[in-house]
Amino acid sequence: MKSLYLKKNEEKRIIAGHLWVFSNEVDVKKKSLSSFEPGEPVRIVSQSGTPLASGYVNPKSLICARIMSRDAAMKFDSTLLRERVRTGLALRQKIFKEPYYRLVFGESDRVPGLVVDRFGDILVVQVTTAGMERLIPDLQDILVELISPKGILWKNDASSREMEGLPSTVNQWGDVPRVGTVLENGITYSFPLTTGQKTGWYFDQRENRRRFAAYCREADSVLDLFSYVGGTAVLAARSGARRVVCVDSSAQALEYVDHNSRENRMESRIESIAGDGFDVLKSMRGERFSVVMLDPPAFIKRKKDVPSGMEAYTRLNTLALNLVQKSGILISCSCSQHLSLDGLMNIVRRSGLKSGRNIRVLEFGHQDRDHPVHPAMPETNYLKAVVCWVE
Ligand code: SAH
Repeated sequence: MKSLYLKKNEEKRIIAGHLWVFSNEVDVKKKSLSSFEPGEPVRIVSQSGTPLASGYVNPKSLICARIMSRDAAMKFDSTLLRERVRTGLALRQKIFKEPYYRLVFGESDRVPGLVVDRFGDILVVQVTTAGMERLIPDLQDILVELISPKGILWKNDASSREMEGLPSTVNQWGDVPRVGTVLENGITYSFPLTTGQKTGWYFDQRENRRRFAAYCREADSVLDLFSYVGGTAVLAARSGARRVVCVDSSAQALEYVDHNSRENRMESRIESIAGDGFDVLKSMRGERFSVVMLDPPAFIKRKKDVPSGMEAYTRLNTLALNLVQKSGILISCSCSQHLSLDGLMNIVRRSGLKSGRNIRVLEFGHQDRDHPVHPAMPETNYLKAVVCWVE
């Protein structure tokens, strides 16, 4: 393995456990980045010559190296990858009774650049780095050996691949149906597999959906804004909500809301509206809901979007608060990794003041356990939710 040398004092974050090396931290005078192949295994060495870790490199990316092991002699190969996937599987099998979960969650499972979701005997894989891309043939063998799936969907179309110089491709192995099925909180849902968003299903909200649905037991009306295929909405209706309105800009997602409502015999309680979330909220002026749920896409994708993103979240939460009945509930989520829980609390506080509503936070929600948090990487701690009582 070649060595990648860090500049003076740039080893601190790595020693503290973080798994990324940024290109401006590399001593390119000692060894230029262009002397590495994209995805090549590499040893990471401090300026004084101390080997720190091993991983893989991509000279084209701002995150130019990702760490696989704190053993500097450990090469990232199929043996190490197999061990990591096996460990990820063992953890999920310990936590979940049914085989529906995120099986591998990137850095948190010590496999930067890899996400694998499991829907029974169908797997959906997302590879986002050149280092992982090189091992796709090995990964395929490993998944077949460990899971014996019927089909694997290689959904390698995330926009972040561009930053790694990778093409956007979607491939299949074995038998991959057009429509996926997931069993969650006792409900069977359908979702678009090949044409869906991300991997097709948001497993990270599993536990929150249960948490949120508990507030819908006696609800006359629930607004599920950014509903996707109705994961929360169907559970809310099943829990007792008399009327649930789903809003999403994706017509395809709403077709699946209808399908999931019918399949779970909740069609008389669930309606859907296609449109932009902000516009729909404005058009509902004067209406009142017992519970309003907000689960928008990430408004803050990069650090520099923090001010504009905070502003958008505040506008959204203010509009939503206007629709909550007295002594009702607002559930506000954010999946922006650059927004902390304190940041979300701040948004809720400001929105309360702007809309003239008194707010008390009853509960916090978090990404579910198949999306574990790496303690050295705040980037892996991304989904938060606050449940607010609104007066
Ligand atoms: N709550 C869902 C996940 C939501 S993901 C669940 O539990 O499964 C975010 C959703 O917001 C996506 O379905 C996407 O189609 C939708 N979306 C994105 N931008 C939107 C906009 N401007 N208005 C309405 N919906 C939007």
